[in-house]
Amino acid sequence: MSDTSIRQVRFLDLSRGLASSREEIDAAVARVLDSSWFVLGTEVEEFERELASACTAAHAVGVGSGTDAIEIALRALDIGAGDEVVTQANTCVPTVAAIVRSGATPALSDVDPETATMDPESVRGVLSARTRAVIPVHLYGQCADMEAIAGIAADHGLAVVEDCAQALGARSRGKPAGAHGTLAAFSFYPTKMLGALGDAGAVVTSDRELAARARRIRQYGVDGERSVEQGVNSRLDELQAAILRAKLPLLERWGQRRRELAERYDRAFAATPIRPLARIDARGHVFQLYVVRVPERDAFRRELGGLGVETRVHYSTAIHQQAAYLDSVLPKGGLRGAEQLAREVVSLPLYPELSDDEVDHVISAALSAVAGS
Ligand SMILES: *Cc1c(COP(=O)(O)O)cnc(C)c1O
Repeated sequence: MSDTSIRQVRFLDLSRGLASSREEIDAAVARVLDSSWFVLGTEVEEFERELASACTAAHAVGVGSGTDAIEIALRALDIGAGDEVVTQANTCVPTVAAIVRSGATPALSDVDPETATMDPESVRGVLSARTRAVIPVHLYGQCADMEAIAGIAADHGLAVVEDCAQALGARSRGKPAGAHGTLAAFSFYPTKMLGALGDAGAVVTSDRELAARARRIRQYGVDGERSVEQGVNSRLDELQAAILRAKLPLLERWGQRRRELAERYDRAFAATPIRPLARIDARGHVFQLYVVRVPERDAFRRELGGLGVETRVHYSTAIHQQAAYLDSVLPKGGLRGAEQLAREVVSLPLYPELSDDEVDHVISAALSAVAGS
């Protein structure tokens, strides 16, 4: 029997996740305070090892954020002014902000509106003599079609930088997100799969030279005592690294619960006007977000809000239509899949601590919102 007393379901409630790992976090914080070593120390080194191992990659380099991780990955590849980097038009703004920060020009590919992942054919259409890299985004926790993208990259001599900000723990053909590209960028922003209590990110790669370069760039471009190239300050601190280490062992369990809840939604929405995004590899999806498409999105959200269900939209504007990027991205239009998704997508509450009853409340609210349509 479902609990009919539920009146409200929040889109996300970080306090629940925190409560479930509070003892481990307190112990991690105490360990760092006792050590009095705060930036780039043993906690960071251990976290880098554990993260690389979780991704089946050889190296991880802890940095200040996911945005920095993308920028540093591009700089490690020597990509900058005069170069073009392809990413998809329906990503979170930081993917593109990082390309611009590197000095390169973002070129946008369209996406498959059924899966919201990069459309490989569209990537071919935006390649030019200046293209140096492709950044597929594993949007919402689902890996892009990495085989097709790697094929295009190999044909044209391009690097692949996976944007794994939403996909730690995801898999494609059995291989973890972060192990497919030349380099990968992760974010540990508090709402991501593995959340720090502040900002944090990492670059992951199996290329020793690129890892060494990313390591230099994150700290002023310094190697030993000499500055060997121009760098930035984007270090991971010991507190965040220790907290991430405390939570990393819980990731697998959290991912399973997310999949379970997503399946509950999927079953309830089958044969209704609510259309969950299609899965490329359902078992590899970690559902950082649970996203559906509905015809009258804004009315649907208002109805759900009235029934106590908080929703969000990821993302309501494609990059080439964002005011800040109108003049700095190529091409200016013709990205129909991304534009359609911007009109139709809505994200429903999904996090590991959500109860079955709460999900059932979201489901009945959603079904009643489309009942008249
Ligand atoms: C969150 C996110 C980023 C940026 O990560 P920050 O840690 O916030 O800098 C980049 N790309 C995608 C797809 C994201 O979701």
